[in-house]
Amino acid sequence: MNPEESFWSPAIRSLVPYVPGEQPKIPGLVKLNTNENPYPPSPQVVQAITAAARQGLQLYPDPQATALREVLAAHHGIAAGQVFAGNGSDEVLAHAFFAFFRHGRPLLMPDVTYSFYQVYCGLYGIAFEAVPLDEQMQIQVADYARADPLAVGGVVIANPNAPTGCALPLAAIEQLLQSQPGRVVLVDEAYVDFGADSAIGLIDRYPNLLVVQTLSKARSLAGLRVGFAAGQRHLIAALERVKDSFNSYPLDRLALAGAVAAYQDHAYFEQTRFAVMRSREGLTLALEDLGFEVLPSSANFILVRHPRRDAVLLAQALRERGILVRHFGSPRVAQYLRISVGTPPQCEALVQALGTILVA
Ligand SMILES: *Cc1c(COP(=O)(O)O)cnc(C)c1O
Repeated sequence: MNPEESFWSPAIRSLVPYVPGEQPKIPGLVKLNTNENPYPPSPQVVQAITAAARQGLQLYPDPQATALREVLAAHHGIAAGQVFAGNGSDEVLAHAFFAFFRHGRPLLMPDVTYSFYQVYCGLYGIAFEAVPLDEQMQIQVADYARADPLAVGGVVIANPNAPTGCALPLAAIEQLLQSQPGRVVLVDEAYVDFGADSAIGLIDRYPNLLVVQTLSKARSLAGLRVGFAAGQRHLIAALERVKDSFNSYPLDRLALAGAVAAYQDHAYFEQTRFAVMRSREGLTLALEDLGFEVLPSSANFILVRHPRRDAVLLAQALRERGILVRHFGSPRVAQYLRISVGTPPQCEALVQALGTILVA
């Protein structure tokens, strides 16, 4: 045993943690590596947080996040009791894995998806089976159906998927839900506001559907740490049990105030998400002109590869020019780069730099 690990519980010695994209403090860096929104949050969010900081910080926040759950429920046309809020959707996902997938039967997930899912499986001892995306890097929901119902313990997918950006239509989500009766299907909609359809409208019809969203991406609040789940009451009750056995106050007063304000400034949300979508379309065309293959994206990032250039070398060359993009080592995406959609000047800087690198 490594002496550094002598105080560690045996269970954590074998953990393989998630590796977040880097956050270097380099002035002037064009940061297109972690899918943050290139625009700041609504000024109303900052005002609400400032006001909240001035009063009541000596008191614990509302453990039920009632005001936020009511705002989220009204926004999505569901009941507040059908909403669970957490400290970033990563926490909501972790609680959901613990609540619904720890029963010995394998959890199905795409082979190429958000890598945190496998990390939670490691943390909680959940068996999983990676279901390959098809040749076009798309999820085929028929691949998740199993003749033996005991062969599946649940399904988790991201829609749009990460890091491909590809979205499934709601009809495919329904097909998936119908093929998994009695098992939770978790749909992670971190990027849904950039061009996909949310499954939240389906929760009343499917007792096995849990939808998870975040304020980190389309609401520009990655720094505030707020996420939520929507589902029927019995699923929400399970998440509340896990939360109240772990941390009763996952959302602080500033996060609650800022998150509510983010949903109250609808105009700002529409303006910034459409700006990102427009930049994505422009960036896609510009990179195709440079010879890149770009997967069709409904998210605030694109997954690209160049048929004649090594992805790691491209990422290094960009880095030398002050531009960060994300590369993943896993075999199916090792020749791709994931590029977050920036502001128009950031996208332009990227296209210019790639133009220079490709002629060298
Ligand atoms: C960014 C992201 C999350 C995490 O969101 P937080 O709310 O910031 O924890 C979850 N799922 C996917 C697919 C993501 O890309």
